[in-house]
Amino acid sequence: MAKHHKIAIIGSGPAGFTAGIYTSRANLDTVIFEGMQPGGQLMITTEVENFPGFVDGVQGPEMMETLRKQAHKFGAKSIMETIEEVDFSERPYKLKSGSEEYTADAVIIATGATARRLQIPSEAKYWGKGISACATCDGFFYRDAKIFVVGGGDSAMEEALYLTHFAKSVTIIHRREGFRASQIMLERAQEHPKIDFILNATIDEFLGESKNGIDSLTHVRLKDTKTGETREVDVEGVFYGIGHVPNTKPFAGSLKLDEEGYIVTEPKSTKTSVPGVFAAGDCQDPTYRQAITSAGSGCQSAIDAERFLMEN
Ligand code: NAP
Repeated sequence: MAKHHKIAIIGSGPAGFTAGIYTSRANLDTVIFEGMQPGGQLMITTEVENFPGFVDGVQGPEMMETLRKQAHKFGAKSIMETIEEVDFSERPYKLKSGSEEYTADAVIIATGATARRLQIPSEAKYWGKGISACATCDGFFYRDAKIFVVGGGDSAMEEALYLTHFAKSVTIIHRREGFRASQIMLERAQEHPKIDFILNATIDEFLGESKNGIDSLTHVRLKDTKTGETREVDVEGVFYGIGHVPNTKPFAGSLKLDEEGYIVTEPKSTKTSVPGVFAAGDCQDPTYRQAITSAGSGCQSAIDAERFLMEN
């Protein structure tokens, strides 16, 4: 028989855990499905300098462990499973992981977003063998290497700056001249002696060699986005910082999503298209995507869920 909980929270980033702190502190039986990447994106971040309350910054993983403990302190339980299927057609709502079935009176979705890929055919061949989307996870393997970082936003600047700890040189490859990155992050990258930029360029192909049956990246083909000209350049590692896609696949048939796959919520609320199902954090936020805004919307979703349960 399916296990029942008053509130099921799907996702364990700042939004999920904050929602869990509020709902469990309101004495509502709460379960948090921690999913594929427990702790969410902050687990692959180094220092978080802009979360209010930490004058000297805080390490992402440390912050997530603290939030988890805080939610557990008030009684929320974590289940290390990923919800793969939902049925929101009637209450209690049904949630299925690979092995188990659960039901809940209200659901908070806080599944976050995942790093985007370039989607060129040779990418799969060299993924993990020269290409990565996580500097904090893989930077260590690129000591004294020549590294490219793709993108022009804060993620690309942050990855590039972090990689300077290991790399011989870091080149930011960006497809145009304007940047989405904040001025402070851009300036830090521009002023760093190990970082340079190639603008109006994209990676067109990953190229490498195979030694004893093991592929490794040795160079890439760069394409000038203005002239269309291509050239091959040596490189040992390529890191992506090109944004994210929302983790909302299991909800596609059940909830209203926008054209990019973000869950649509009512203005000034976390209500989705299904009563009693709420969404918080990056899975419903294409604009701000900050730890603090995720935590804030996690709080809102908990208050919305509490009110819904009181009224129903
Ligand atoms: P973003 O701001 O959306 O930037 C993505 C970058 O990747 C853009 O420059 C974009 O180019 C480029 N891009 C996207 N698809 C591409 C493709 N197929 N080929 C080549 N380039 C591509 O994403 P983000 O940098 O991940 O930042 C997301 C949010 O998180 C932002 O609000 C940011 O401020 C925040 N953030 C903050 C910090 C921090 O404060 N420490 C760190 C990381 C992220 P175009 O500009 O041409 O579209």
